[in-house]
Parts: sequence; C-alpha cells; structure tokens
Amino acid sequence: MKRYQLHIGGQWCEAAGGARFDTANPFTGQAWASVPDAGAEDVDRAVAAATSAMDGEWGRATGFERARLMRRLAGILERDAADLAVLESTDNGKLIRETSGQTAALPEWLRYFAGVADKLQGEVIPAQNPDFFIYTRHEPVGVVGAIVPWNSPLSLLMWKFAPLLAAGCALVVKPSEYTPVTALALAERVAEAGFPPGVLNVVTGRSAGLGRALVAHPGVAQVAFTGSPEVGVKVAQGAAAHLARTTLELGGKSAQVVFPDADLDAAVNGVIAGIFAASGQTCVAGSRLVVHEDVHEELTDRLVARAREIKLGDPLDAASEMGPMANENQWKTVAGFVERALADGARIAYGGAGDPVLGGLFYQPTIVTGVRADMEIAQEEIFGPVLSVLRFTGEDEAVTIANSTRFGLGAGVWTTDVRRAHRVAHRLRAGNVWINAYRMVAPNVPFGGSGHSGWGRESGVDAVREYTSTKAVWVDLAGNTRDPFRLG
Ligand code: NAD
Repeated sequence: MKRYQLHIGGQWCEAAGGARFDTANPFTGQAWASVPDAGAEDVDRAVAAATSAMDGEWGRATGFERARLMRRLAGILERDAADLAVLESTDNGKLIRETSGQTAALPEWLRYFAGVADKLQGEVIPAQNPDFFIYTRHEPVGVVGAIVPWNSPLSLLMWKFAPLLAAGCALVVKPSEYTPVTALALAERVAEAGFPPGVLNVVTGRSAGLGRALVAHPGVAQVAFTGSPEVGVKVAQGAAAHLARTTLELGGKSAQVVFPDADLDAAVNGVIAGIFAASGQTCVAGSRLVVHEDVHEELTDRLVARAREIKLGDPLDAASEMGPMANENQWKTVAGFVERALADGARIAYGGAGDPVLGGLFYQPTIVTGVRADMEIAQEEIFGPVLSVLRFTGEDEAVTIANSTRFGLGAGVWTTDVRRAHRVAHRLRAGNVWINAYRMVAPNVPFGGSGHSGWGRESGVDAVREYTSTKAVWVDLAGNTRDPFRLG
C-alpha cells in the first residue's frame, strides 16, 4: 500500500481530523493507496495558503517568471510521464496506452500557456477627453477552487492549472474520491519545479461535503468544475451564493452523424474510437450514431464485427484495447441503462452485459439498435461503452435528431461532400465538431460545451481570460480636477 498526504502551502500533512481512506485499483478490485480524508478545516487551510501565495512572491511574479517556472515543470512532467501514466491507470483503470498519451501531452499544455503568460497585455483605450490616458490590465482573478472527476484526472486538472498559472492565480484542487493520487503526484513535481508554496494545494477526501466546502469558501474567487450536470448545477448555485465565478465542463450525449457518401472505413474507425476508447468514460463519447438509412445496415454490421474483435484486458497491458469501468457504481449505471433500453423496445446488436470471461468491472462493448430519439438511452449520458444507433432519411432530420438532447458538447460529421460537411457542422449544437475525425483536442483549441454540457472554455488563448479580470485605469494628464462643489 502506498501512503499519501495532503499538500497545503508547500507542506505534506494529514487531514485535520486525522481520517484516511483507501483508493482501489478498478482492475484488481484491491485497495492500493491510502490518502487523507480531508474536511472543511483543511479547505480553510488550503485557501489560506493559496491566498498567501497570491499576496506574496507568486502574486508579484511577472508573466516571464511564471512562464519560466511553467517550462521547468513541463520538463519535469516530460521526464516522469511514464510513471504518472502508471499511477493514473492504477487509480482509474484506464488503458496505459491512453494514459501514456495523456501524460505525454501535459507538458504541451504548460508550454503553450507559458507562451501566453508573458503576453497578457492590456490595451490603451482612446479617450473621449484628451486630458485622459486610459489603459487596461488583465489581473488574476484570485484563488481558484478546482473540482475534477475520475475519468481523466490529470489532464482535466492540467486544462485548468496551465491557464490559471499563466494568469497568475493560485489553486486549491479537490480530485475525485475515486482517483485522488495523481493530483498529489503533480503537487510533488510543482514543488520540485520551484513554484512558491501555496500555488498548488491538494485536498483529497471522499465526502461531497469537501467539494461543497471548497465551492462555498468566501476566499475562492472562481470555481473551475468538471463533472456531471447534476453536480454542476449544485456547484453553480454554491458559487453564486458568494458570487464566485464558475467554469462548468459537464457531460454530453454526442452524436456521430454518418451520411451515405461517407468513407465508411474511416467512419467505422471514428465511431469505434469515439465510443469504446476509455470504455466510453469520456465526456465527448460519441454515444449516439445518427446514420442515414441507406448505410444503416452495412455500418451497423461492420461496427458489430469490429466491436467483437476489441480485446478487453488489464489496463496496464499495452495490448489491451478496452479496460474496466472505473468503479462499481459506474458498472451498475451502465447495466441499468441497457436493461431499461431493452424494456423501451431497443435491441442489442452486440454486447449488453458484463464480460463473461473477465467479470469484475468489465462491461462488453455494446451496440444498441432500434433506438428512437425520445428514448432514455438516446437522451441521457451513460458514461460507458454503449452506442445507440438511430437512423435518419434527410439532412434536416439528421440535424434535428443530433440536436435533440439537453447537451451540447461534441459531434462528428462523416461525409465526403465538403459543402454538406460545413453546413451541418454549423447547424449542430455542440462546442466541438469534428469532420471526418473524432475526439481530437489540443492546447491551442478551445474546448467546452453549451446547454447542460456547461459553460466556459478550456484550452486556447482565451482560456486564460477565464482566470483574469480586466481592470480599467484612468489617468488625468491635465491636473485640472476641480472641486465639485465650487461653481464656475
Ligand atoms: P461527478 O459530478 O459525480 O463528480 C465530479 C467531482 O465533483 C468529483 O470530484 C466529486 O467528488 C465532486 N462532487 C460531488 N458532489 C459534489 C458537490 N455537491 N459539490 C462539489 N463537488 C462535488 O462526476 P464524475 O462521475 O466524477 O465524472 C463523470 C462526469 O464528468 C460525466 O458527466 C462526464 O461527462 C463529466 N466530464 C466532463 C468533461 C468535460 O470536459 N466537459 C470531462 C470529463 C468528464
């Protein structure tokens, strides 16, 4: 068993109450690490440490100094990417081939945003009155409280951490109770890079009360949340109670729209990767296949044949193509959705059960046909390896079906007609649309959703603006400020 401590103000420490909990490896089902079970008192300490960082050396650092530290951290993460991938896969059961890619990309986010840190320039505003000189400054919003889920803990943390460092903010992060370890591993490396104490503070815990305490803390100026829409609503309400700003990256029910002129070889690969990568436990999972009736049968048959070949296995084995669900709750949620879909009249084309050989938390890649847009399985996020197949006859109908959920996160369009590709991409209600591709992300490309998929954008230059507030400075050049109560 590995034993970890909280990281607050540059110190490793126990939770104030001394409590701890174990985190389990979803593949073996065994507890593998023990972490502190923090509470509101620890949140107070962490926010105080972050506030001290903002009031001290970190708050005074120039963008150039912040960028230097960020680049140093990027080098450390590059050195340790393989170790971090093993930690991540051990904690959340995601394939090592996926977590390796994710940890290898962490330095790219830091280097990209380091390039923004030293370019956060304001502007000079032309004044109506020539006696005034007016300019703006983009100042850090203050202490950020981040709450992240278990499916891509380190990446999703970095999507917040890199831009907020560039902006000059300090962070208190509460990782998921299912995956508390890698945020602590990051804190160790942040300290090694030489960041002042309090720039990154990590509080681990298993109660929802811990997240609530962070959101409600009056010292937190902004809450950056990634998670489910249900919790996102509570986070927005809690933050609004003290007028903290929020960014909300929530769930999705993303559609992959396949037209009859699509390159079906590419579409098969894209649809399979979109739903079965990460065992469907990704916010942009392409969980609805909206396919033209002319290619419905052929595409479904080819997807079934491909799904049959997917090799389920140990996430740490590079040969595995699909890992287990990250926890038992998630397994039960997936199974429940599939059962209810059958009761609603849908049919299983492949899968539809736990894996008969591996058992445990493995769920088969599952393809459900005969799905109508109003069925629960076409409306709700499953967060598992379940593809719902819906058919359409015309372009308008395809767009209507694709836009028929409360979410607006991702969408794929598969067609060789360039006009149709852009036309449909523009009509789809989604923050990210991929044409003849799926699930690409990059540090320089904005990512986010609309509707119940949330608000705010991560990545891209503008992500830094989520963590700054603009100050307007007015300077009198003429020295003729008059007494307001004397006439003439
Ligand atoms: P979740 O909403 O259950 O939990 C997310 C985090 O919120 C966890 O750290 C949890 O401990 C914390 N939390 C729970 N209750 C809280 C409360 N009342 N106040 C404050 N914090 C609280 O989500 P999950 O099951 O961990 O993750 C899966 C969800 O995350 C899916 O809906 C998925 O789509 C979404 N997600 C979105 C993105 C994105 O970028 N849009 C990325 C990954 C995951």
